[in-house]
Amino acid sequence: MKKGSFTLLLFTCLLSRHNLFAQQQADLETAFRQINAEVLSHSEAYVRLGESIQQIGHRLTGSPNGAKAEQYVFDLLKAYGFEEVAFQPFAINGWARESLDLRVGSPGNLQPVKAVALASTPVSAQVSGELVDMGNGLESDYAANPERAQGKIVLAALHLLPNSPQGTKNLHRSAKAALAIKYGAKGIILFNSVAGGTLLTGTASITGDLLTIPALCVGLEEGNRLKARIAEGRQEATIEMKNKAGKMQARNVIARITGSELPNEKIVVGGHLDSWDLSPGAVDNGLGAFSVLDMARTFMALGIKPKRTIEFVLFMGEEQGLLGSKAYVQQAMSNGTLDQIRFMLNFDMTNDPKGFYATLEGNRALFEEIGHSAARIDTTFKGTFSATAGLYSDHQPFMLQGIPTGGADGSTLSREALNCYHADCDVFELVNEQQMKNTVRFCSMLVYGLANTNEIPVKRLSDAEVKQLMVDNNLEEALRLGGDWRWD
Ligand SMILES: [Zn+2]
Repeated sequence: MKKGSFTLLLFTCLLSRHNLFAQQQADLETAFRQINAEVLSHSEAYVRLGESIQQIGHRLTGSPNGAKAEQYVFDLLKAYGFEEVAFQPFAINGWARESLDLRVGSPGNLQPVKAVALASTPVSAQVSGELVDMGNGLESDYAANPERAQGKIVLAALHLLPNSPQGTKNLHRSAKAALAIKYGAKGIILFNSVAGGTLLTGTASITGDLLTIPALCVGLEEGNRLKARIAEGRQEATIEMKNKAGKMQARNVIARITGSELPNEKIVVGGHLDSWDLSPGAVDNGLGAFSVLDMARTFMALGIKPKRTIEFVLFMGEEQGLLGSKAYVQQAMSNGTLDQIRFMLNFDMTNDPKGFYATLEGNRALFEEIGHSAARIDTTFKGTFSATAGLYSDHQPFMLQGIPTGGADGSTLSREALNCYHADCDVFELVNEQQMKNTVRFCSMLVYGLANTNEIPVKRLSDAEVKQLMVDNNLEEALRLGGDWRWD
């Protein structure tokens, strides 16, 4: 080949590549405009979340309410026109509260105190003893006087006390319960930092096994009152609790659009449907779950035929330890389809985001292309990108298998909403319709962009690369605590 014709060929190639890119860009923006208009005028995210809360209430995994929520979502996806909607059942060691009676006072004069049991506490417990103030309930609090909690009932702060020494690192409630057991306590009462008698729940078990001692939560004012009384003189407590625990069933709900060109490449779009039982979980995770549902509705309403297969997945069991997403990944491993998952997007408490994130820096160019196209449609969306890896939601089991994960970044959550995390005040009034619409339209664009791009640059990581990613993101200790560190 002569030099001249090579240059000409190269030039033609570059030109056609450029045209192709420009064409792709134009197609993307056309699709984004349609998504934008559809969501702004027909989004059902807000009304369906409100309706489900009214009809069902909380969505605790394994409970009758949880089963109703699974069915509600299944029926809704069918009504949106999905031909392929399926339940994915899995067994769990479920837990549900039955009764709790806490009494505290000076000897001979014990008075009832409003409290809730933390999840994974014993099926039946009846303990009484002296109440001792263990500060923040951290190792250092016990180490100062290792005998102090022996045979007693511990009172400790769930969030760090205001006067804690600078740099004190707090522990998860389950770690605090484990420490109380380690130092011989008969029970533990945690008080939170949210004013107004708010009660919080969540699991008290690191491993998922039932605890050997009762663990409960009381409100901030009650906690401070008890601390003051312990300082004045001996206080005693009795705890009587009954809970239900055992094998229960839950179901993820999966709706699928088969890809037109790359049916064996899959984008999983997930959010957990389950909630705790003290409230309807409007924010955690009504926001994410009903946004995912409305993304699914949007794709159906527009008749989008993506290149890659998209699976919209409503997970159950997230709150008990990512049980639904673990079951999903387990099943994909056992039927040999795990490698088909090219990306997992997770939406947990996502609200009015301003950009996107992914676990790996290698996704930057693609995510920025999608983000900037979205930002051109509406400049209130910034289309920023950050590479970050974290834990404790349904992307985790995928990420630990090396699958690229990501989602929305820069969510807007009010102080009120954050205070009601896992609390009895996580109610529908905290939800903002326009902000939910924003979640749905921009995240639908991300889904569309990933499902239709010619090439997703980042491939599944090897085992060694996953380990390095966890180390680089400082996640080793947390994974060890949760029993998920497999590189020893
Ligand atoms: Zn959540």
